[in-house]
Amino acid sequence: MSEAFVIVGAGLAGAKAAEALRAQGFSGRILLFGTEPERPYERPGLSKSFLQGTSERENIYVHPKHWYAEHHVELRTSTTVTAIDREHKHIRLANGQQVPYAKVLLATGASPRELPDAGPHSVYYLRRVEDAIQLRFAFTKAKRVVIVGGGWIGLEVAAAARAAKVEVVLLERGEVPLLRILGPEMAKVFTDLHRSHGVDLRTGARLGHIIANADGRAKGVELVDGTRIEADLVVVGVGALPNTALAEAAGLAVDNGITVDEHLRTSDPDIFAAGDVANAFHPMLGQHIRMEHWFNALSQPAVAAKSMLGLEASYDQVPYFYSDQYELGMEYSGFVVPGGYDQVIVRGSTDTLEFVAFWLKDCRVLAGMNVNIWDVTETIKELVRSGVAVDVVKLSDASIPLADVLANAKDTGAKDTGAKSAGPARSADGPDQVH
Ligand code: FAD
Ligand code: NAP
Repeated sequence: MSEAFVIVGAGLAGAKAAEALRAQGFSGRILLFGTEPERPYERPGLSKSFLQGTSERENIYVHPKHWYAEHHVELRTSTTVTAIDREHKHIRLANGQQVPYAKVLLATGASPRELPDAGPHSVYYLRRVEDAIQLRFAFTKAKRVVIVGGGWIGLEVAAAARAAKVEVVLLERGEVPLLRILGPEMAKVFTDLHRSHGVDLRTGARLGHIIANADGRAKGVELVDGTRIEADLVVVGVGALPNTALAEAAGLAVDNGITVDEHLRTSDPDIFAAGDVANAFHPMLGQHIRMEHWFNALSQPAVAAKSMLGLEASYDQVPYFYSDQYELGMEYSGFVVPGGYDQVIVRGSTDTLEFVAFWLKDCRVLAGMNVNIWDVTETIKELVRSGVAVDVVKLSDASIPLADVLANAKDTGAKDTGAKSAGPARSADGPDQVH
């Protein structure tokens, strides 16, 4: 087997990397290895339309079935890479086969964090398409579900369960769901939304243990305070952990994910990482961040592919994610560490769920979340990237186009400093992970 570009992990990032290598004109061998039996697919629908049965399985795939053969990408599904021998430059597969490589991209993603208190009992996690199929089926039989964890999985699954007319008890260990990500002002919007849809949202809820049937199937939970909550199934969404075992065993630098520079290169110049698993240096933020979101997995591979080919490229996109829950659709652009802002400005109305929220520090926009208002993301990203101080009265006035607020801020900034802002190189303390 001749030396190849090897991609480990056939998820969104892996598939996009293969596409980007071909788009760059790379004509050598590309091998794409994935543990799952499926060809690469996107996960967002698994907690939304696919889980609700309003979208077909065919819609989740990154590429049509024949794309891989047509682009001479050797896709090996159901194939786990078990080791990287950096000295001899080959990878090893679970069946013992060795594959020589010229370059490797690690796109191994993340796996659900298992509930420490679940014991041997069967609870539902949601990561793979099979998980979504099983959960969708379980909803058709269930009267009541307990969801442990008020993060993105917990909230989106709660919305899907309510759409299936299943009663929901959602357990959040903190004061409100999403507090760490959105702060109290916007976390309240999601709390109210779920309660208005009949979710029994219990905050400050500390899980004691899972209650199970004799066959081991979870049928509820008992909280530390002794409260028992019976249900037909228990869904757990308590975070994800990056799949770093391969990188660690190979002696690559690993710290909350695989450590990569802005070119997405690991501590080995022939090995790269992208997607959920990569803890990448972000030039605009001046720190490493690891993002567990679709946009990052979609767009980092283009940079990784260029870097693998020896071309100059850096990943500096403004962090972005989206969510859909009931009638609320949102996009979030930017990056704020907990407590890292000094004001939240709302443009529009939270009551009607049509608004843009901005998190600011010293009148500079750190992040913006548009709720049921579309086609403003690029302007929000530009506000974040520009790092210019904005007029907060104009920012909160929905009758003034956002583009005008940005132009005005840039103008004023230029007059103040005598030069256009080159954009911030912010550094921030705190968690370097965006959920
Ligand atoms: P993954 O999707 O995890 O893919 C990695 C693949 O690599 C997996 O198939 C894994 O089996 C394989 N693999 C791992 N190790 C090996 C190995 N040694 N050998 C071979 N293969 C290996 N983000 C949003 O922004 N918005 C959303 O609405 C949203 N919804 C989501 C809903 C769900 C249910 C989930 C689970 C995630 C959601 N996300 C969302 C996050 C988004 O899906 C992830 O950020 C994205 O899937 C990351 O892609 P990835 O390719 O880096 O990793
Ligand atoms: P998450 O968004 O990180 O949320 C995890 C939640 O579980 C947090 O509220 C966390 O609380 C809580 N938690 C952690 N440990 C716990 C424990 N032992 N007991 C009770 N609660 C606990 O992760 P997720 O919702 O499980 O989602 C998994 C992955 O899928 C993430 O990578 C996520 O980004 C991704 N995803 C993204 C989207 C989206 O972007 N729309 C949608 C679905 C999934 P603390 O905050 O207090 O730690």
